[in-house]
Amino acid sequence: MKYFGYARKSSEEDSKQVQSLDTQKRILQDYAQNERLEVVEYIFESKSARTDGNRPLFTSMLERIKSGEADGILVVHPDRLARNMIELGMITKLKQLGFLKEIRTPMGSYSTTADLFKLELEGTFASQYSRDLSDKVNAGLKSKLLRGEYLSQSPLGYLNTPQGIVPDPARAHYIQQAFKRYSVGDISLKRLANELYEQGFRTKGGRKAYRSVIERMLKNRVYYGVLFHKGVLYPAKHEPLVSKELFDRVQDVLVGRNRSKKQKHDFLYRDYLYCHVCGCKMTATIKKGKYRYYYCTNGKGKCQEHTKYIEEKKLHKKFLPVFEAINLDEELATLSLEIYAEELKSKSALQERMQASVQEQIRAIEKKLEKSKQLYLNELCTLEEYKKDKQEFENQRVDLQQALKQKSSNVQTTLELLQQFKKHACTIQKMYEEGDDQVKADLLRSALWNSEMQGGKVVSTRYRKPYTYLLEMNKTRDIHEWRRWWDSNPRNP
Ligand SMILES: [Zn+2]
Repeated sequence: MKYFGYARKSSEEDSKQVQSLDTQKRILQDYAQNERLEVVEYIFESKSARTDGNRPLFTSMLERIKSGEADGILVVHPDRLARNMIELGMITKLKQLGFLKEIRTPMGSYSTTADLFKLELEGTFASQYSRDLSDKVNAGLKSKLLRGEYLSQSPLGYLNTPQGIVPDPARAHYIQQAFKRYSVGDISLKRLANELYEQGFRTKGGRKAYRSVIERMLKNRVYYGVLFHKGVLYPAKHEPLVSKELFDRVQDVLVGRNRSKKQKHDFLYRDYLYCHVCGCKMTATIKKGKYRYYYCTNGKGKCQEHTKYIEEKKLHKKFLPVFEAINLDEELATLSLEIYAEELKSKSALQERMQASVQEQIRAIEKKLEKSKQLYLNELCTLEEYKKDKQEFENQRVDLQQALKQKSSNVQTTLELLQQFKKHACTIQKMYEEGDDQVKADLLRSALWNSEMQGGKVVSTRYRKPYTYLLEMNKTRDIHEWRRWWDSNPRNP
C-alpha cells in the first residue's frame, strides 16, 4: 500500500493546541519509518481553514488517489483530514469506490466502513477544533467591540470606510427623520414606511424599506452611538445619528408605553391580539358610542376572519383559560416550594460548615508558619529550609482564603422572592377575573406577548418569562418536577 502523508495547520490555529507542520511532518516520518510504510509524498497545507474550497492540496491529493498514485493517507490525527461533513463525504466516497483503502494515524487505522463511521465520530473532534477557532474569532470580535468598532456590514444610514462606519450623506437624514416622526406616537410603522418611501428613502439595494426594516432600524442602538453584542453594550466610536433621549422615546412608543391612558383603557387587548388565520394584528373600534369590538384588519386582503367582530366583554371570558393555564395549584405549589426551601437551607448549612472548616485550616496553617519561624530562630533549621516552608504554607493560605471568598447566595432573599411569586402565581386567574380594567391591563402586559384568535376563540398564546415556567409546571403534577422548576428560579414577575 502506498500513502500520502498529509499535514496541515491553518493560520488561525493556536500553536499550543496544534502541532506545527514541522512537528507533524516529523511524527509522520518517524511513524512511517517504524511501520515501514511506503509514503509516496508528504503534503503540507498551511492555508487558512476558515472557508471552504481553499485547501487546494487536499483536493488535489484526493484527485491523485483517484488516479491511483496512492491508496492510503497518513495523518497525525483525523482532525487534520476532515474539517466538515463535505470533506468527510469526499473521503467516504473515495473509500466506497475503492480508491482509498486506509486512513492511518499513529493512534489507529481506518480501513472498513465501520471505521469510517468511527472517523465520522472523531470528526466531532474536528468540529471541536472548528469551535476553538470560532472562539478565537470571537475573541477578535470582542477586542473590536472594546475598541468601539462596528462589526459587520454598515447599517442603513452609515457607510463602511477603512476608518469604521460613517454617516451616509444620502440616507442619514431619513433615519433621523424616521426617529423624530415615530417618537410623536401617532403613526404606524407601516405608514412611516410609506411616508419615507414617498420622500425617496431606499434600502442599499434600491428598494422600499418595509415595515419590518423600519422597525428593526428604530430598535437598533447603533444609531445613538453604542454597539450591542450578545446582551452587552459597548460605547462606539462612530458618530451617532440620534440622541439617546430620542431613541428612548421611540422605544416607549414601540412598546406602547407612550399611548395615552384613555386609549389603553378603551382597548384593553389591542396590543396582544393577532389573527390566527392571516397573522395580522387585530384592531379595535367603538360602536354605538360604548361597545368595544375587536377584528382582524385583513391587512393581506384575503382573510375571512375580519368579518367576525368580538366584543371586549366577551373577550374577558375568553381570556380566562389563558390565565388558568398559568395559574398554579396552591397545595402543590406550597408543598413543592417547601421541599425546595428545605433543600436550599440544608445546602446553605453545609456551605457554612465548609466555610468554618476552611477557617479552621487557615488557623492551623498560621500555627505551622509560626512554628517554622521558631525553628529557624532557634537555629534548628537553615534559612533555606525556613524560606521553603514559609512559601509553601503561604501558598496554601492564599488558596484557602480564595475559597472563603466564594460567598454563598442569600437563601433568605431567594426564598422570599419565590414565596411572593408563588402567591402571585396561585391567584393570577382570580385577579384577572375579578380585577378592574387597570388590573387586567397590568396582568396582560406582564404575562403575555400575544394571543392568536380564530373563530372568536383564543387559539394560542405566547407568554412572557417567567410565566412560561408556570405553563411548564402545569403540564405535570409531579411534585419533584415542580421542585426543580423552583430551582430554576422563576423570580421577578
Ligand atoms: Zn385575519
